[in-house]
Amino acid sequence: MYPELVKRMNKEGHDIGSHSFTHVNFAVADMETFEADMEQSEELIEKTIGYRPRFFRPPYGNITLDQVIKLEESNNLIIG
Ligand SMILES: [Zn+2]
Repeated sequence: MYPELVKRMNKEGHDIGSHSFTHVNFAVADMETFEADMEQSEELIEKTIGYRPRFFRPPYGNITLDQVIKLEESNNLIIG
């Protein structure tokens, strides 16, 4: 919603992370939904700051083991 703010944060040296695109509860989402959401979120951040985020904070703190493994494969760090 605030691309100029995100650009400024990045320029000032802050780390930019994803908190998902739809803020869905991933504990009850299937893998297809999870992957589509992550792709949409990361793509938008890349479009805004020029690269994909490394950090991900799951909405409500909910995430499945399969989703954690998927994120690790794409070199993402999960933060609480
Ligand atoms: Zn949230």
